[in-house]
Amino acid sequence: MKNIKNYNLEDLKQELVSIGEKTYRAEQIFKWIYVDKVNTFEEMTNLSLDLRKKLEENYTLCNFNIIKKQESVDGTKKYLFDVLDGNAIETVLMEYNSWKTICVSSQIGCRMGCKFCASTGIPFIRNLTSGEIVEQILAVEQDIQDKVSNIVFMGIGEPLDNYDNVIKAIKIINNPKGLNIGARHISVSTSGLVPRIYDLANENIQCTLSISLHATNDEKRSSMMPVNNLYNVKELMKACKDYIKITNKRISFEYALAKDNNDNLEDAKELVNLLKGMLCHVNLIPINKIENGKYIKSSNENIIKFRDYLNEHGIVATIRRELGSDIDAACGQLRRKSLE
Ligand code: SAH
Repeated sequence: MKNIKNYNLEDLKQELVSIGEKTYRAEQIFKWIYVDKVNTFEEMTNLSLDLRKKLEENYTLCNFNIIKKQESVDGTKKYLFDVLDGNAIETVLMEYNSWKTICVSSQIGCRMGCKFCASTGIPFIRNLTSGEIVEQILAVEQDIQDKVSNIVFMGIGEPLDNYDNVIKAIKIINNPKGLNIGARHISVSTSGLVPRIYDLANENIQCTLSISLHATNDEKRSSMMPVNNLYNVKELMKACKDYIKITNKRISFEYALAKDNNDNLEDAKELVNLLKGMLCHVNLIPINKIENGKYIKSSNENIIKFRDYLNEHGIVATIRRELGSDIDAACGQLRRKSLE
């Protein structure tokens, strides 16, 4: 059975033609799935009975079941979804003022091995398909009976390590006839897969790119993020500068502050030197504790000092709100699960 949510609108048109249907049917089906949000082909009442039967026999709507839902004291919700193959992934919904942001997972597990992140400590299983990425959003919207405003690819997995499916998912999310979420409200975060940063630059998609930087020199960055041995700080920064040149878009650098590791003024100085003159923004993340993790969160005082130093030296920096840490829903705390 093929997952009908794996098709963006253009692909679905072709798929329908290949089964002897007219292309306008694709738009009707898209509307049923992404606007009316039905869970069965049976409910797609403007399709002929014949077509509905054909769809039922050959395609699935891949509706995820919620295995568990937890709610933080700050209102953040964490969902554990059964992805229907014996695995489970986590998706987070954060609310702030009138913004509703979903943090989606892109893989079941992660291959990057960042030392401070819980998503990576357990073996990698597989990429999520574009339909499985999109389904996380549909399932959360169905649960809260509301639409969300922003999507961040900051859950489990390295989105650029699952490049094609992530791009296809973004096209479905962004399509006015799909989930209709503006590209400016979609962020993709990467640990720094340089060749894919160039690919993304050339996609002509207006989403925001976030780079998980966390350290400014190779020694420190490699000790935190093994991916730095593949693409070092110099190569990464060159790719970022080229990305800005090609897209004319601001990059957001993520920097998780760990006590006595990367949080003193020397580090801030190095960061200023590295980013000076770039069209960018720094998002400081108080590092979240994970099981068996060796990094400890910087003190609030230090975090503020670090931010102020950056701001005083021409780098726009803000501190990321810590949402959902009481339910292990904060940055770096999500994990894949196996279902017995
Ligand atoms: N793999 C992608 C996206 C996932 S994580 C990436 O690396 O960018 C989203 C952000 O949370 C990344 O910046 C990641 O480095 C950060 N992060 C991971 N573990 C963390 C932790 N324990 N505390 C704070 N931030 C963390």
